[in-house]
Parts: sequence; C-alpha cells; structure tokens
Amino acid sequence: MRTVTGQSISSELAIGTIRFYRHIKNIIGSAVAANPNMELTRYRAAYQTSMEQLQNLYNKTLEQLSPAEADIFEMHRMLLSDNRFHHAIETSIIEENKTAEYAVYSVGQKLWERFIAMEDPYLQARGADIQDVMNRLLFALSGKTESALDHITEPFILMAEDLTPSETVQMNSSKLLGFVTRQGSPYSHTAILAKTMGVPALMSIDIDEEWDGHLAIIDGEKACLYIDPDDALVQKYQLKINSGIKRREELQKIKELPAVTQDGRRVKLFANVNTPADLEAAVEVGAEGIGLFRSEFLYLNKNEYPDEEMQYGIYRNVLEKMSGRHIVIRTLDLGSDKKSPYLALEPEDNPALGYRAVRICLNQPELFKVQLRALLRAAAHGELHVMFPMIVSLREVRAIKDLIEVCKEELQKKGLPYGNPILGIMIETPAAALIADDLAKEVDFFSIGTNDLAQYTLALDRNNARVHTFYDPHHPAILTLIRMTAEAAHRHHIPVCICGESGADLTLTKAFLSMDMDALSVAPNALLPLKKTIREISLSV
Ligand code: PEP
Ligand code: MG
Repeated sequence: MRTVTGQSISSELAIGTIRFYRHIKNIIGSAVAANPNMELTRYRAAYQTSMEQLQNLYNKTLEQLSPAEADIFEMHRMLLSDNRFHHAIETSIIEENKTAEYAVYSVGQKLWERFIAMEDPYLQARGADIQDVMNRLLFALSGKTESALDHITEPFILMAEDLTPSETVQMNSSKLLGFVTRQGSPYSHTAILAKTMGVPALMSIDIDEEWDGHLAIIDGEKACLYIDPDDALVQKYQLKINSGIKRREELQKIKELPAVTQDGRRVKLFANVNTPADLEAAVEVGAEGIGLFRSEFLYLNKNEYPDEEMQYGIYRNVLEKMSGRHIVIRTLDLGSDKKSPYLALEPEDNPALGYRAVRICLNQPELFKVQLRALLRAAAHGELHVMFPMIVSLREVRAIKDLIEVCKEELQKKGLPYGNPILGIMIETPAAALIADDLAKEVDFFSIGTNDLAQYTLALDRNNARVHTFYDPHHPAILTLIRMTAEAAHRHHIPVCICGESGADLTLTKAFLSMDMDALSVAPNALLPLKKTIREISLSV
C-alpha cells in the first residue's frame, strides 16, 4: 500500500479503481496544417488503426461478454466508416488546410452537437458514441492507446495531470467517485464543479500512470490517497462511507424546514448549479431556488456559440423545471480559466486580470445580445433574476442596461414576447464592494462572489496551486468588504446574497447572519449541513 498527500476540496471519501485520463486538448494542438497531404496520410493511418482496434474489441467482447455488448463496437465501426463523416474530415484537411487532429475534432464535435440536440432519446444517446469514435481517432493520431475512460462500466476514481473546467463538466457521470490531479487549486472552477457533483477531489498529488487500474481510497478530510489499500483499511473506510450516508439521510429530515436561527432570524438558502442536470440535486435538498446558475458552462464544450433559440430553450426549461422557485442566471463569465474554442481567446500574461466576463460581453455586444435576448424571452415565462459578473464600475452596469433596452427593441420589432428580468450584479471585486452604495442605486440585488473577491483582494490567483496556502477567505479585509456590501445593499433596500464558496463555510455562517445576509447560495451537497448549522445558531449569544 502507498499513501500520498495533497490538497483537498472537501471532507468526502471514496473507494474505487483509479482510471487515468489523458487530455484530448493535449492531442489536438494547432489547427493549421503545414503539409495537408501528410495530414491526410496520418488521418488514413489513424482510421485504419481505429478500425482494427474496434474489430479486436468486437471479437474480444463477443468471446468474453455477449453479442449485444459486442454490437456496440460494430456500431462504432459503422460510424467511423460512414462516408459523410469520413469525407467531411478529409475535406477539412485538404480544402481547409487543417491538421488531422483538428479536422477530426471539429467534424466530430459538430456531429455530436447535432445528435445531442435530437428529441429522440435513442438518437440523443448516440452522441456519446460519436464522441467515443472521435476520441479513438484522436488517440490513434497521437500514437497513444485509447483513453482509459472509454467503455468503463464500473464506478471509478479519475486521475489526471490536470482537468479544465470544460473537461470536468463533461464528466458529470454517475460512475465518477472522485478526482485526483497533479495540477489545480482547491479554489479553481474545477474544484467548484467537483463540489457541485458532490465528489471528493485531491489536487497537488504526485500522480503515477502506473496506478491506472489499481484500487484506491480518497480521504478528503486528511487530503490523502491510499493506493492498493489492504482489506482492513477498505473495511474501515467502507464503514465511514456508510455512516456518512446515514448522516445525509438524517439531514433529509430538515429538508422541508426553514433555515431559521434559534432566535428567529430567517435566511433563504439557494443552490449553485453549473448545468441543467444539477437542478435535480438542488430540488432534492430542498433548495428555495437557484442563487447562481453559471451559464457559461452550457457553452464551454461547444465549437460554436449557441444561437438565441437554443439559449432561450435552455433558460425557459430551467424556469419550468424549477416551477416558481427563485432563479438567478448569471450571464457569461468566460475567459480566464474558462475558454471556449469559438471565442478564440488569445493567451494573456494575467488572464484573471484580463479579458474576462462582462469585459468580453461589452466588447463583443453581438455575442452578449444573443444571451440577453434569450434571457429576456425566457423571462416572459416566469420571474427570472439575471446577474452580471466581474463588475468594477457604474459605467459597465449602465452599458449593460442600455444593451438590454436595445435587445427589447429588437425583440419588439420581431414581435417576440419578452419579460422584464430582475437585474443584479455580482460583487466580486474590491472596486465593486467599495462603490456598493452607487451600484445599489442601479440594480435590484447583489450577490457576493467570495471566490473572486478573495482572489482580487488578496492579489492571489485562485487557480495557482503554488500560492493557494496564502488564499485565506477569512482574511479581515474580505470580511470587511462583505460587511460593507451588505450594509450598502440594505441602505438602498435591495437584498444581498453570498454565492461564493464561503457561503458553505460553517465557521463563517454566524458572521454572515450577523451581517444580515438575506440569502446564502451553496453547492447542493452543502445546503443541508448549512441549514442544520443555521438552525442551531443563536445570534444573541
Ligand atoms: C465567485 O467568484 O465567488 C463566484 C461565485 O463566481 P465563480 O466562482 O464562478 O467565479
Ligand atoms: Mg466569480
């Protein structure tokens, strides 16, 4: 047995087999081909290799499992040899001068998007097969073996050098028990995604590819990973996991009860979600609504920016699914660590201080207006709160409000119905907290993003693992800015919520309630433990 330690994002535990994940993004590389003929030869060789691999997998599965399971690989062979798919890749290489990797990825991605948008659940599910086939070709091009994650049917612990937020969001699988990575910081978006999924994640682990396929235990509390644990340790952790399940079941008893302190102070509890799939978890824990819907995660894995119709459908669905609950959708917070291929963001020396969130939206209003019109149209179907990230000035808020008016005129001209969303901003920069009185006159609510507020107040990159021990959300400067924001909000009679990770920090709950927070918004898994703490607090003692 080996024990390694790292940094942990939560106290969760997991026991399972490690699966090593190789990045597709590392395989794709540059888009433009120096020699298209050579790329075509490479593609044809990879195609051949993939066809042979699938034939072998078919034979092996037929022998060891059943014809039904073997058929999956036969279907993948058919997808791979589909003339249109094949032709589109070759055309992209020869006529558009693309590298083999880029051509495979872009053609595969487009096809995948078409399938997952289909109504028929059977056809929709074929999207995953297209991704499998695309990944197989990419790995064949790289000369490496296929990703260890393909065709996994058992629950697993995912191990990787690093994971981007877009890769993590794609992993929202019922089979995923936890993450182990070498890179990454516990305050990154990847860590936040893992929290929303309710699984443990260890970072700064000196990972070893050899562990692929080995049994391991993640102890989030001790921030350690046991590889090849003995039976006694597995049993000990299984007991701990079982008592965790019991504790969670116990907490279900307070699901319908209000979040109210012993001395009668009531606070609203909302959930933070990143994808429509997370809504279910929010409902399950009795969230009074969604305090933060990070809309950018809907767009991260796409090749093209989703059009107004598609966005409208998604937002409307969120409102309908949450039937009358409080909903706050945050507009695109792309840039920094969240990059979409269609935005073609250039590398920056200081991405967290760079082209990000409303800076992109205000600089590229045509892109922003698509989202705004979609949100306005969705607001015709129920009360919708819309909030804007990374605000530092009044000028930005006014520019956004002007754009909203332009969007309303455009919708009116087209005869499309729209509603009037309730508008708010995130207070996640020291500048915004310091001018909160002025900002409060312009908007209907504030939501405090403590993750970025800490990053910008402490001058500390939240994604940089080397400095994360200096990242201190309890720093008095941050708590002072939070208090100032709450006071400014209440002076102007608007509600204020905390939607950053500090909202789930039970050692800060009493302080936040004393500051008169109207609501706290946390990952679904963190909601009931938070409610329990609130119900035990007495503010007067
Ligand atoms: C925050 O910054 O606290 C926040 C909630 O937004 P995000 O973590 O998505 O940047
Ligand atoms: Mg933020």
